[in-house]
Amino acid sequence: MLMPPVIKGMSVYGVRGRKSNEINLLLEEYEAIRLLDHQKMNQEEAAVIMNVSRPTLTRIYEVARQKVASAFVEGRDIIIRGGHIVFDQNWFKCNKCRANFNFYEKSDPYCPVCESTDVTSLNEYFKNG
Ligand SMILES: [Zn+2]
Repeated sequence: MLMPPVIKGMSVYGVRGRKSNEINLLLEEYEAIRLLDHQKMNQEEAAVIMNVSRPTLTRIYEVARQKVASAFVEGRDIIIRGGHIVFDQNWFKCNKCRANFNFYEKSDPYCPVCESTDVTSLNEYFKNG
């Protein structure tokens, strides 16, 4: 299963005198970095999990690394938004305490951390930015 990002982006620290010009990292680009660089998978494994061909994964990964490098070197914020990844429909985010959680019961979803019913489907959350 694909894990939703724990963040919607990252903000730079210590940039003086100008507004950061943000970089949009697509969800599949985030996922490629997560699987390859963080989970240390090889490209064959990651391509299977992301349901793309190996060459497609390689292309996604190259773009993702270029964006992360630009953000890092040029001091730009990263916003994780958009793309073609669809999360399992049972993933939600709590609008009160910001927790991400799974919900598989038949009733209306509620947050298991704070019990709030003010929750958003993660597919909607990342689509709308
Ligand atoms: Zn909550």
